[in-house]
Amino acid sequence: MVLDTKKPQGAHNAARYKESLRDGREVWLDGEIVKDVTTHPAFSTTIDELARIYELQHTDEYRDQMTFVSESGVRCSISYLLPRSLDDLKKKRRNSEIWNQQAWGQFGRGPDLLPQFVLGMYNNREALSAVKNPHCDFGENIVNYHTYCQENDIFLTHALGDPQVDRSQQPQNETRQIKEEELSLHVVEETNEGIIVSGAKQLSSAAHLSNDTYVSLSATFVRRADPRFIQAFSIPSNTKGLKIICREPVSQYPGTWGHPFATKYDEQDSMLFFDNCLVPWDRVFMLYDASSMVQRLAGGANFQGWSNYIRIHERMKTMTAVATMIAEAIGVSEFREVAAKLGEMIMFTEIWRHAINGLEQSAYMTQGGLMSVGRGTGMNMFFAQFSARMVELLRQIGGSGVVMQPSEKDLANSDLRPFLDKYMRGKDVTVEYKSRLYRLAHDLSASSFAMRQEIYEYWHGGDPNRNRVNLYRGHDQSEITDRIKDMISEPLPYTG
Ligand SMILES: Cc1cc2nc3c(=O)[nH]c(=O)nc-3n(C[C@H](O)[C@H](O)[C@H](O)COP(=O)(O)OP(=O)(O)OC[C@H]3O[C@@H](n4cnc5c(N)ncnc54)[C@H](O)[C@@H]3O)c2cc1C
Repeated sequence: MVLDTKKPQGAHNAARYKESLRDGREVWLDGEIVKDVTTHPAFSTTIDELARIYELQHTDEYRDQMTFVSESGVRCSISYLLPRSLDDLKKKRRNSEIWNQQAWGQFGRGPDLLPQFVLGMYNNREALSAVKNPHCDFGENIVNYHTYCQENDIFLTHALGDPQVDRSQQPQNETRQIKEEELSLHVVEETNEGIIVSGAKQLSSAAHLSNDTYVSLSATFVRRADPRFIQAFSIPSNTKGLKIICREPVSQYPGTWGHPFATKYDEQDSMLFFDNCLVPWDRVFMLYDASSMVQRLAGGANFQGWSNYIRIHERMKTMTAVATMIAEAIGVSEFREVAAKLGEMIMFTEIWRHAINGLEQSAYMTQGGLMSVGRGTGMNMFFAQFSARMVELLRQIGGSGVVMQPSEKDLANSDLRPFLDKYMRGKDVTVEYKSRLYRLAHDLSASSFAMRQEIYEYWHGGDPNRNRVNLYRGHDQSEITDRIKDMISEPLPYTG
């Protein structure tokens, strides 16, 4: 399929987004192909929630905060806006806040995230063009792809890692014997239309919910001797031969009030199997050249983390607020220890807010002509660390109530209800209010949804250990190390 930039459809609304997912994609769940993801009970509530937020783009209240009119006169999502000024950056922040406030910071890979990766590549379009290929111009491809995504509000997911088979024989082991088993994604052949690729990716969140899948390599997996394994491209999620294998859902629970976050925000995670998939030349952004993948796909701008940092802030605000409301609902908020734990949660949230503001205040104009926020390299690793602490604090503040709440049917039973009203109410709050509030805490700290979210927060930025090593290796401390060397080269003044 050749990229069609001539018939733009503009910002998604609810109906069009849902329709865009009924495209014959090959989604597998529990050994069966899902015919229509929009109606399958494991997926439909999440899709309905995304559709609801997409629809906000067309409301009087949110239109101007979530969309803009492009040069070709199409109303587009601000997620794809190319920021040229500080004002544009502020608009992008507001749009990210809306997406993430609406979803309480629970959609890790929501539609606002990957557009920022496209912006990063767009920023490096000239450098991409410098890598020559007889079939296409990679820089031109990314410019056209950006226009296509922007004017059709493409929901992108991404897949960067190799399958977790034998890491000792994969690029993670720098001392392995260099031999490539054809597990990882690789080019099988080139044709006039494009490249044919086969292999697998571990993993991709929200793949079954997305319109396109962006495929590339993380800093770990880009270290390859065989150029066939080096590619960056994007294909429609219904590409022939692309199999999307979903994990067990964490969203299927009975009862309207059962699991308020899990029901709506299970974004799913999938293995992707590519069985001789055609990637048209105009969707290829890099091929065979590992050095340019590392240096050029995101270098020079810091868009990739921005939307994620804003999501994390909303997640932290949500967790802190639920912890506070629970402490009040069981009359423990004034206990010194509990108040200190709430203070610790607020401390993390406040530090994070200051960090986001700091990135905005250190914005700069890139060589690619875009206004980028400052560098936030350590932030993902920091959150991977203290996210678990926040979950722990919420569990500790909530006590046994985190797991012991009446069900909806318990509450509706007239024989049981007087006992529930008496023994399971809270301080000045009804049993109904308390149990619904506590279910939020359960979904944030104890349910299988909560555990998936916690695993996500730890790993989603890549292996935190590897990231710390890379941070250390790339961090220039010469200003202070030189001064220390000067200081210790001078004799101390005689004090005797
Ligand atoms: C919920 C979830 C959602 C995700 N969503 C996406 C997504 O949408 N798109 C995407 O591209 N990726 C996604 N990821 C993948 C994520 O980026 C990886 O999980 C992460 O990079 C770690 O890789 P891995 O899971 O293969 O672990 P592995 O690399 O297999 O690591 C396993 C263990 O070995 C250790 N280890 C590995 N290599 C070394 C080494 N060289 N030296 C020492 N120790 C080592 C690790 O620290 C870890 O303890 C997601 C992951 C999760 C858990």
